[in-house]
Amino acid sequence: MSHRLLIDTSWTLFLDRDGVINERLINNYVLQQNEFVFCEGALKALEKFSSCFKYIFVVTNQQCVGKGLIMQEDLNLIHQHMCEQISLSGGVISKVYAATELKEDPLSTRKPNPTMAIQAQKEFDGIDFSKSIMVGDTDSDIEFGQRLGMKTVLIESGEAIFSSPDFRFASLHEFSLAI
Ligand SMILES: [Mg+2]
Repeated sequence: MSHRLLIDTSWTLFLDRDGVINERLINNYVLQQNEFVFCEGALKALEKFSSCFKYIFVVTNQQCVGKGLIMQEDLNLIHQHMCEQISLSGGVISKVYAATELKEDPLSTRKPNPTMAIQAQKEFDGIDFSKSIMVGDTDSDIEFGQRLGMKTVLIESGEAIFSSPDFRFASLHEFSLAI
């Protein structure tokens, strides 16, 4: 596969949150707004993506809600803050989907379960998974994208990865330079 992804404005971008948009807290959750720190260059990347893609969705596993570490309302406020900052720098997030159930929940919508993308497809017109890209930093992100027939991009975190993403980049910013 070439190093450049040939896309047009009919494509959809799905983004993992922690480790892609904001700095991941190792073995911990972002529970407060001041713990949400954008990765270097992420805002700039999101501005660029907003003119390249039809939609940009955030799909994030946040079982911190299921564990009772944060209220759903407070998670919503963190996402509202995130979207405001992105919008102030010229980017647009169409919608944030968060899977807040515990891993053990048999009805869990967590990645790699494809539920969040299918929900987006129900709510927004014209999402074609074969013209979609999933960007994440873990195997569950890559598997999520692959199950849906998306192109997959791994943001390398230094952690071991067992899946086979289509592309690998050091950061969201690096990926934005390849589009
Ligand atoms: Mg992540």
